[in-house]
Amino acid sequence: MYPLTPDRDHSVGSMLTGRGRSSSLWSEILSTGLIISPSMGIGGVADHTRRGDKLAPMSTPVTLEAIRRAPKVLLHDHLDGGLRPRTVIELAEELGYAGLPSTEEDALGVWFREAADSGSLERYLETFAHTVGVMQTKEALARVAAECVVDLAADGIVYAEVRYAPEQFQQRGLSLDDVVHAVTEGFERGTAEAASAGRRIRVGTLLCAMRQNARSLEIAELAVRHRDAGVVGFDIAGPEAGFPPSRNLDAFEYLRQSNAHFTIHAGEAFGLPSIWEAVQHCGAERLGHGVRIADDITVSDDGTATLGRLAAYVRDRRIPLEMCPSSNLQTGAAESIESHPFGLLAELNFRVTVNTDNRLMSHCSVSGEFEKLAAAFDYGWDDLRRFTLNAMKSAFIGYDERLALIDDLIKPGYAALLD
Ligand SMILES: [Zn+2]
Repeated sequence: MYPLTPDRDHSVGSMLTGRGRSSSLWSEILSTGLIISPSMGIGGVADHTRRGDKLAPMSTPVTLEAIRRAPKVLLHDHLDGGLRPRTVIELAEELGYAGLPSTEEDALGVWFREAADSGSLERYLETFAHTVGVMQTKEALARVAAECVVDLAADGIVYAEVRYAPEQFQQRGLSLDDVVHAVTEGFERGTAEAASAGRRIRVGTLLCAMRQNARSLEIAELAVRHRDAGVVGFDIAGPEAGFPPSRNLDAFEYLRQSNAHFTIHAGEAFGLPSIWEAVQHCGAERLGHGVRIADDITVSDDGTATLGRLAAYVRDRRIPLEMCPSSNLQTGAAESIESHPFGLLAELNFRVTVNTDNRLMSHCSVSGEFEKLAAAFDYGWDDLRRFTLNAMKSAFIGYDERLALIDDLIKPGYAALLD
């Protein structure tokens, strides 16, 4: 369980009562211009530029169209949460899948969005029965993967880690390795198609184990088996409450012994104990969402922010937070973009990254998330560049390749927008 220490007493109340006062105070602090206390230890960190330290005068307005042109990095995107509605309908026909709520493209897109808007993670996950249901053959998996890459490239993504749970695609007899091969082939096809359209994108795969099943070691072994063929890491996904990360300890130990990378969905539907387990018990390198780390931060009336031990550890160790604002609104992890803890966590120099989670269900894109955050928190290009660099530095591919993407694409891309 989560260890209470005397240093955390100030924030125990907020932990017990949910998201506490920090979020409600945050918009007030922004609007009144109160200054965060230097006692928080901000500054002096090479990979972070404080908001307000503008790099140069901006000549390109921060519009959705301009954001689409900016090079962006996506670390948290579910393959089965990003299908085109038209593809869902066509694959359902091909596979003889019955039960779609609509076979009209626009209506189906709206249905996915509205069903996911219900406010509970469990209900949100129900929408996946249909997408997963039509992804049960090699051809269907490859098509979905290829279209995913083309769509991400069209949004200006230069590097993406797309995740999926192979165990969900075995309803028609595919082996786990069949599934991985089919998706990898689709990613390669999509990457080539994007390149022929003049868009350079690199895609890595994360293999997820579902928390409610008991196959995490098997999936971890699958991830290691394919790590030189497109798979760059591992994750656990699915219902968070009742399925703590520590249930999968053997998988995480195996991955660490294999020098393999993994992230863990934690701190979305469940709070600090889940984050603590993911980081301290399981050794997660990144946190999927991690939004509830804000429960361990107290903001006083004068604007001074005080970090509890766990929040300080996550920030000090530069543990990346794969934040997905629109998705959080749908699952009830946040009430609005303006009150989303992203603003507070970015201000406090946590290593925040901006992600989609499920583009179909949330009807979102990285560019759209950037635009919403920029409107809510008055971000400029230097801020968007910082979030992009945060993500690129946190990717699971090798250091040389990360650096090349930063030097060749990301820095020149933002420099052009800042000129
Ligand atoms: Zn997710």
